[in-house]
Amino acid sequence: MNKIVVVTGGAGYIGSHTVVALSDAGYTPVIIDDFRNAQPWIIDRIEQITGHRPAVFDIDCQDEVKVAKVFDQYETIFGLIHFAADKAVGESVNNPLKYYQNNIGSLCTVLKVAEERGVRNIVFSSSCTVYGAVSDPVVTENHPVKAAMSPYGDTKITCEKIVRFTQAVSDSMTAILLRYFNPIGAHPTALIGELPQGIPNNLVPYIAQTAKGVREKLTVFGNDYNTPDGTNIRDYIHVVDLAKAHVSALAYLSSKEKQICDIVNLGSGHGTSVLEIIESFEKVNDLKLNYEIGPRRPGDVEQIYADASKAKNLLGWTCEYEVEDALKHAWEWEKTIEKMETK
Ligand code: UDP
Repeated sequence: MNKIVVVTGGAGYIGSHTVVALSDAGYTPVIIDDFRNAQPWIIDRIEQITGHRPAVFDIDCQDEVKVAKVFDQYETIFGLIHFAADKAVGESVNNPLKYYQNNIGSLCTVLKVAEERGVRNIVFSSSCTVYGAVSDPVVTENHPVKAAMSPYGDTKITCEKIVRFTQAVSDSMTAILLRYFNPIGAHPTALIGELPQGIPNNLVPYIAQTAKGVREKLTVFGNDYNTPDGTNIRDYIHVVDLAKAHVSALAYLSSKEKQICDIVNLGSGHGTSVLEIIESFEKVNDLKLNYEIGPRRPGDVEQIYADASKAKNLLGWTCEYEVEDALKHAWEWEKTIEKMETK
């Protein structure tokens, strides 16, 4: 029997790679996405990679009637992976209501519809942003959640609680909160990848656009941190590895008899500095990047990376790709965007 997995935000960056991973693992992904931050042709690309065209419903996750209609098309739904959310930290500061309304509203709606229909396996897409500023850079899942620095971060903290409290009183649900570190890279086929809207906020898309000449130069946000080369340290994880972790998470949830709500970090377990990312990007792609050192970006955490042992022990999942692979794939993808734009 085909195992149907509803993937909200399935046309987005992490969502599309997860749809591919699910398909590769024999699941039948069903996408709900209103394409507010995704391109319809991503679905063609998913089909090109997997040989299967997923069912796609172009609807807003806050629309309960429409979401319910999607769920009601299928006799049994094996799981729900909820990605659909707005994710620009800066925008969330300027427009908090957009973030509270969409991110929290969407989760409440899909969770309610799923709960009413007895969908068991629930995966929620969270972020290491919930840890806030950390004193010890290696974080386990037991690290306390800190007050958020932005409405975006606050919606992740709140959504985690919503899943936890809903699961606790549900007869059917078992859930996992996946706290992502820094997803980067693209599918090795260069058919899907990240499509930032406007000026990228994140380091690797900014680097790729600078290498292509879309941006004049990259500014490194500070080199006076208390780290070996003075720049911030993050845990960068290949998006394909991250996607596969969702498949492992579903397998884990369905293998558990007891209903639970687990929390798992998804990172490589290694820290890489901004300058190391730049150097690696230059080396693996054999090019020079135009960059300068600038002032610190307000709110940046000095260094943070995952203790990834829980993911390994619980889900049997570890990263297969290195940062270098991700930087190569990010550049391969960036070059195809150029071709698409000039079509
Ligand atoms: N960064 C940078 N220049 C940029 C974008 C990011 O130096 O144009 C740095 C940023 O200060 C941080 C790291 O790159 O230390 C990763 O930033 P990103 O926004 O990608 O992830 P986050 O800070 O949310 O972990």
